[in-house]
Amino acid sequence: MATALTGGCFCGAVTDRIDAPLKHARSCHCSRCRKAFNSAGSAYAEVEPGALSWTQAEPAIHRVGGGSWGIAFCGSCGSTLAGMLGQQAHGVTLGVDASPQPTTVVAVP
Ligand SMILES: [Zn+2]
Repeated sequence: MATALTGGCFCGAVTDRIDAPLKHARSCHCSRCRKAFNSAGSAYAEVEPGALSWTQAEPAIHRVGGGSWGIAFCGSCGSTLAGMLGQQAHGVTLGVDASPQPTTVVAVP
C-alpha cells in the first residue's frame, strides 16, 4: 500500500487522511469553481470512494441545488477541501488538501 496522504485546511481545524493513490488531476474554470476556490479555477484530483477520512473536525458541506453533490470546506477559515458525492469525497483540492508540506510532491496521473 502506498503511503497515506495527509492534509488539512489553512487554520488546521479540519484535517484528513487519504489511503489510496490520487488519480485524474484536473483543473476546472466554471463559475462554481472560480467562486469556491476564489481563483481563476480549481485544481483537484479524484479520490477513490471511502479513501478519504476526516481526522479532526468535520468540514462544513455546501450542497449545490439541494442535491447530493457539494463542496467540503472549513467552517472556520473557509479553505476548500473536497468535492463530495453524498457523504464521501470524490475529489480533493491539490496543493491545499493533499500536500501540506512545501517539499511534498504528489504525482497524479
Ligand atoms: Zn480551517
